[in-house]
Amino acid sequence: MRYHSTRGQAPELSFTAASLTGLAADSGLYLPTTWPQVDAATYARLRTASYTDWATYIVGLFAADSLAPATLQQLVLQAHQPFRHAAVSPLVQLDSAQWLLELFHGPTLAFKDYALQFLGVLTEHLLADSNRQVTVLGATSGDTGSAAIAAFAGKPNINIVILHPHGQPSEIQRRQMTTVLANNVHNIAIKGTFDDCQDAVKTLFSDAPLKQQLGLTAVNSINIARIVAQVTYYAYACAKLGATAEHLLSFCVPTGNFGNIFAGYVAKQIGLPINKLIIASNKNDILTRTLMTGDMKIEQVEPSLSPSMDIQISSNFERLLFLLLDRDAAALRQLLAEFRTHGCCTLPKTVIAKLRQDFMAFAADDTDTLSTIQSTYKATGQVVDPHTAVGLFAASQARQTGLSDCLINLACAHPAKFPTALQSAVGLHPPLPDFLEDLLTRQERYVTLPPDVESLRQHIQTL
Ligand SMILES: *Cc1c(COP(=O)(O)O)cnc(C)c1O
Repeated sequence: MRYHSTRGQAPELSFTAASLTGLAADSGLYLPTTWPQVDAATYARLRTASYTDWATYIVGLFAADSLAPATLQQLVLQAHQPFRHAAVSPLVQLDSAQWLLELFHGPTLAFKDYALQFLGVLTEHLLADSNRQVTVLGATSGDTGSAAIAAFAGKPNINIVILHPHGQPSEIQRRQMTTVLANNVHNIAIKGTFDDCQDAVKTLFSDAPLKQQLGLTAVNSINIARIVAQVTYYAYACAKLGATAEHLLSFCVPTGNFGNIFAGYVAKQIGLPINKLIIASNKNDILTRTLMTGDMKIEQVEPSLSPSMDIQISSNFERLLFLLLDRDAAALRQLLAEFRTHGCCTLPKTVIAKLRQDFMAFAADDTDTLSTIQSTYKATGQVVDPHTAVGLFAASQARQTGLSDCLINLACAHPAKFPTALQSAVGLHPPLPDFLEDLLTRQERYVTLPPDVESLRQHIQTL
């Protein structure tokens, strides 16, 4: 299977090469040139299969020609070993037609563990064959950083450097990063905003000699291996609930960078029995507005109770636009240039129509989020985190428009990660799982740097 860039001006690569590259050389995102298909007999045979059997099958559809079956299976087993629930992603029933898919049983308690644990073992495997050294560099406002650190800590030939805005992540989120004391883990608190961190990272990536010298590599959700790993839980949920072409499921997905829900779209493209994908946004609702009006218009990022979704430019949306433009890279480049210049672009009518066929979108503000945490707790006894609550609110809106399918809500993070919101919504302080019980007393290690690229460049070169 070959992978090509959404911008059409970078070389085609294999799955493993695209995974190591991350962003394409033309700043586009990699996608397979055709969709593999889940065949009916395999779907039926895997009905009662384990999560890792499903992951081996799904990742194999995308990676079979660049990873031997035995290697692939071993990598999948290794990537899922740190998950602490026998089902890996258990389904919890909320009412007669609605389920939560719990994606927070990994080492850092958010769904990003699925993709990053896999990327971690895959990168380690690929480097072992190549004698190369890499430096994983990224900026985080919270969940991505800790998931990446958990995935790469202690791995040979890899340094990981994660920038966070000083004082911004919650104490739990910060400690999930800074208490990992492995020698190859380097946390840097930047005295600035998340945007300062991201700008610094971008500047270092654009420095070709430095990139070469350190083997800089990115772990944000533009990496195709992350998307592929996430397709598994959509397939697994369809199989466990017995979905078929006659009985389709719909999924509701709290959305920021559009990585998680794009994996759902891929699941539908490879033939899984999925009807609608519901985009749930918080007050940073660019995607909801785009679906409604056909105009994609950027606004100021507003902080919310669901910080992992406080995003205005959803990088993975580029993948969807490319597909809806029938893979016309030139048309995509033109649309993106317009968006960059004017902060706004109008999607072609055919694109909007196709978008509305597969997607619905609804937004929840902080008041809706808190009241949904409350009403869910009252009706079901389930304590959900603010991101999941945004999803449940969107799902209830979708019901009101007449959507009658069985609905799966992705539960993206463990409620204990967001104690302040939970305290104000339901007066509860959900406990951290046993393995993180002493998180608040563990030793921390990080350095603090001013928001200028030169200090950062110097610091990284000494690591
Ligand atoms: C990252 C994240 C999101 C947003 O997911 P995308 O793939 O960026 O759309 C939502 N909720 C939580 C808890 C997250 O960590």
